[in-house]
Amino acid sequence: MAEYSALFVEETTFYNRMVLGAFLPSRTWDPLPHFFQTWIRNYIGGILVYFLSGFFWSFYIYYLKRNVFVPKDSIPSTKAMLLQIFVAMKAMPWYSALPTVSEYMIENGWTRCFPRINDVSWSAYLVYLIAYLVIVEFGIYWMHRELHDIKPLYKYLHATHHIYNKENTLSPFAGLAFHPLDGILQALPHVMSLFLVPVHFKMHIFLLFMEGIWTANIHDCIDGKLWPIMGAGYHTIHHVTYRHNYGHFTIWMDWLFGTLRDPADDEPKKM
Ligand SMILES: [Zn+2]
Ligand SMILES: [Zn+2]
Repeated sequence: MAEYSALFVEETTFYNRMVLGAFLPSRTWDPLPHFFQTWIRNYIGGILVYFLSGFFWSFYIYYLKRNVFVPKDSIPSTKAMLLQIFVAMKAMPWYSALPTVSEYMIENGWTRCFPRINDVSWSAYLVYLIAYLVIVEFGIYWMHRELHDIKPLYKYLHATHHIYNKENTLSPFAGLAFHPLDGILQALPHVMSLFLVPVHFKMHIFLLFMEGIWTANIHDCIDGKLWPIMGAGYHTIHHVTYRHNYGHFTIWMDWLFGTLRDPADDEPKKM
């Protein structure tokens, strides 16, 4: 385990040097403790993922493909998007604390994380990865559902994300527009999984940051119709009815627990 710990610290130190070195003069971050360097790196990483995915996706669907996916009069106003960016930016320093704490626990050998794929066999790697994803999917579904069902949680936390309750106010920038604690709670299953299944360290970090891209994608209101993916068609319904489609990557948890509503059922029936 001590050998694992050294490998994890070596890897995170490398990431810190690479990211901080690219954006900041070394005298500003070099004297800081490892934990703070990691936090700044996750903060920079979070901002990059959020803005790159938000800008590219908005540019593509609202400008390059104007009127193709989203009718011109349904494009959210700049003001709505700026408000979503403002909410997300207020929360970003707190979101960044989550991977920082999870990396700290990994480095200290408290989790079941492993540093290299050949620490386990390829078949075990795949089984663990699937188990990790199932736990994340189950965890996010129930966390999200409780954020609606437990009224104070809804009122003080999750309502912040639900002020965008009409189709044309949602944009890719709404993806991380949460109360900081709400965002952290919904990402928590990623950290809980580390204690339940062995998971490859890089994969954990990758999947955590992929959330930024995924949430941008499910808030663009475009119905991708790709079974069993929980695309924006489903998530838009969630923002309208508040009682359906709590799931995250796939529709399976909503199907299993009886809260699924298919966008196809809401379309006007063609005779
Ligand atoms: Zn919700
Ligand atoms: Zn949402």
